[in-house]
Amino acid sequence: AEHLVEVNGLKKHFTLGTGSTLKAVDGVSFSIRKGETLGLVGESGCGKSTLGRTLIRIYESTEGEALFQGKNVHQLSRKEAKQFNRDVQMIFQDPHASLNPRMKVGDIIAEGLEIHDLSRSDRTGRVVELLEQVGLRPEHAKRFPHEFSGGQRQRIGIARALAVDPRFIIADEPISALDVSIQAQVVNLLEDLQADRGLTYLFIAHDLSMVKHISTRIGVMYLGKLVELAESFELYREPLHPYTQALLSSAPVPDPTARRERIVLQGDPPSPANLPSGCRFRTRCPHAMQECSATEPLWREDAPGRWVACHLY
Ligand code: SF4
Ligand code: MG
Repeated sequence: AEHLVEVNGLKKHFTLGTGSTLKAVDGVSFSIRKGETLGLVGESGCGKSTLGRTLIRIYESTEGEALFQGKNVHQLSRKEAKQFNRDVQMIFQDPHASLNPRMKVGDIIAEGLEIHDLSRSDRTGRVVELLEQVGLRPEHAKRFPHEFSGGQRQRIGIARALAVDPRFIIADEPISALDVSIQAQVVNLLEDLQADRGLTYLFIAHDLSMVKHISTRIGVMYLGKLVELAESFELYREPLHPYTQALLSSAPVPDPTARRERIVLQGDPPSPANLPSGCRFRTRCPHAMQECSATEPLWREDAPGRWVACHLY
């Protein structure tokens, strides 16, 4: 199939102690093509990390399905699950928290290799190769995570993910915690690895400027729903959804003549445990109409490849 990942009406709800339901992911549908990078953007709490974690089976789905290579990831046999755990890897926002501080870097990277039954010397050789592929040096294998900078730690996290030779990587805010000067280096590394290995990425970020250079297509999430999905250049050229328009207007633009009028959203997003009726963006939308509180807009293809959920279209 042309699509590596297909998601149909996926929901992930959590029941809170108060008995109410937190609709973290509330019915999203999209697909990811082989070899592309799908950027996924939205404010914190919009459900983008929960979506990533549901795709990689950290969470069961509440409803709907996620297919990887045509197979429902939540209904895999043991053998299929084992292969899935190699094919799909995740990179996290805070490489410091996700690397065991008591383990040497070489052992952290080799952890994934154990299941391949390699000999000790073969493992060491693979670790050195992986370190070099992410721009680190062989001697780094003997050091501990705290001896590295944030950018280097993210490289270690990437090497660890690559150890099992994955096909699909879910990167959850991989550059958000890094200095701006380091962010581009990590993005470049991810792009080089993608070209070398034919990797497919889901690249999660809270800000459109972070996904601009790496994404083939971009999806925008708001309160558990996708509100827009388009080819990256289309989304920047002509954002359709009022929320995307607001996000873009606040993103830094290097060319001042291309600057858009700043749209400042009023208020905070409502709680995903207490959603507004109709369109869940209506409490902050500058274009809200009567229809918007009565009916939830459908997720539909407005033009080929351009998906949007808004009554304006
Ligand atoms: Fe705004 Fe209405 Fe569109 Fe929602 S459906 S984004 S409230 S115009
Ligand atoms: Mg998150």
